[in-house]
Amino acid sequence: MEAKHIKNPESWMMSYGYNPQWSEGAVKCPIFQTSTFAFASAEEGKAFFELAYGLREKKPREQIGLIYSRLNNPDLQILEERLSLWDKAEACAVFESGMSAITTVMLEFLKPGDLLLHSGPLYGGTDHFIKSYLHKQNIHTLEFSPDMSEEQITELVEQSGLSANLRLIFIETPANPTNALIDIEACRRIADRFSGEERILLAVDNTYLGPVWQHPLKHGADLVVYSATKYIGGHSDLIAGAVLGKQAHMDRVRALRTFFGNMAGPWTGWLLLRSLETLKIRVERQTKNAEEVARFLAAHPQVKKVHYLGLLTEEDGRQYEIYRRQCLAPGAMISFEIRGGEAEAFAFLNKLHLFKLAVSLGSTESLAQHPDSMTHAAVDPEEKMKLGITPALIRLSIGVEHPDDLIADLAQALES
Ligand SMILES: *Cc1c(COP(=O)(O)O)cnc(C)c1O
Repeated sequence: MEAKHIKNPESWMMSYGYNPQWSEGAVKCPIFQTSTFAFASAEEGKAFFELAYGLREKKPREQIGLIYSRLNNPDLQILEERLSLWDKAEACAVFESGMSAITTVMLEFLKPGDLLLHSGPLYGGTDHFIKSYLHKQNIHTLEFSPDMSEEQITELVEQSGLSANLRLIFIETPANPTNALIDIEACRRIADRFSGEERILLAVDNTYLGPVWQHPLKHGADLVVYSATKYIGGHSDLIAGAVLGKQAHMDRVRALRTFFGNMAGPWTGWLLLRSLETLKIRVERQTKNAEEVARFLAAHPQVKKVHYLGLLTEEDGRQYEIYRRQCLAPGAMISFEIRGGEAEAFAFLNKLHLFKLAVSLGSTESLAQHPDSMTHAAVDPEEKMKLGITPALIRLSIGVEHPDDLIADLAQALES
């Protein structure tokens, strides 16, 4: 950063990493809709490739030049620099989806015979990739639930007889759809406890609260992954993902991205630059709205139970303690159990006007969905019961509308 007196990421989202002089004085970074970049000379082309393939060390102040949009592109590079500010990460790589970010991390840091320890519930796509694809590759996995203590998770690893093969811990916190929290610092201690010469890495899916309200790297994570489709994109108009962490780990992630070719394109990169300008004010408003909506739901006679981080109290014990230590605000995801079952839940969902009946989350518009029959339809029924995904459970993603209108929409749907 050149101007050291500017300290808050939101102040940098309009300008960081871009110089208008590069593009005819254009205040906004243009879309570099190009597959390839011209070298000024053959010598320059040679120098760029030497760095891109790691054939020699960088000279002082030397940067990897632009070569080909599968390796790098200005819209992605500037986006990666701006995203790094929120998590205070050394490096970032942007992907064409959250799933490509997650699967690239798992495939880079796991090989046949290794053990992956992960939390549950996980996003459906992540869960399916682990249980179908990774198992087929002879990668062993162990799952723990949010109610397990650090000692119980440690015991689970020890009893598996595979603790020497542990390579990666992957967690999602808060967990979708119940908002259950996983303790990042405790997972770090577990990773360190089983680390030999090679450090066991801890990766956190920070889609629900990040990058504004939770910073896993600060709590000991090595890698943070995102579905940038959600809060970072924030307008339900693109699919993208991101991974952030230390330079050495990110060099490996970026190398695999280059060979998979699953980077985001320039147009998606440009849209995300647009989105980052309003990220902070969007999530502030969404969170304020969600706090009001959660209070309304908690007081409504047709509502049995509300799962919202902002409603946690000391009576919630460890969950409250983790929340106070790990999260900066409760975010804008709410789930609640309606009185009755699937029939009552469906009647409610069908009556909503302002809330759209759709999966996904984090956008400017409010969305409602039924996890049991929609996002989590493929999860084992017994496991769903254990995790609290009942036929009466409804998940809301709160947008930037006026809170009175959101509450009025919910009220009329609950009354019918
Ligand atoms: C949506 C989501 C993903 C997958 O991201 P895509 O962008 O849809 O590929 C992963 N993790 C979480 C928590 C998500 O909500």
